[in-house]
Amino acid sequence: MYRFANGHLTDSNFNESLLRLIKISSHEIGHMFGISHCLNANCVMNGTNSLSETDYHLARACSLCQRKLNSSVHYDNKKRLLELKNFFEKQHFNTDLSLAQQDLNLLQ
Ligand SMILES: [Zn+2]
Ligand SMILES: [Zn+2]
Repeated sequence: MYRFANGHLTDSNFNESLLRLIKISSHEIGHMFGISHCLNANCVMNGTNSLSETDYHLARACSLCQRKLNSSVHYDNKKRLLELKNFFEKQHFNTDLSLAQQDLNLLQ
């Protein structure tokens, strides 16, 4: 968190650092489950070379990478999306909240 805030973690940049941590951690955890880098337009499994590239990408896996993850982990996708939505809402990550809600709407 501290490094993602360029050495000055404050209340005002906490969420930005947390979102960076979530993106990097999600990407690396994806590798732990055997998912390679993804070339889809905006996927957490895209490779990044800088924080600005990390900031540009979403914390969200594309549908193909989600299917790969689900084939090895067998999670309940609706439960996962509801929990993500609640987390994003609590943290005021509005872009991610909106995307989780869109994904939930597709399931209903
Ligand atoms: Zn990677
Ligand atoms: Zn992907």
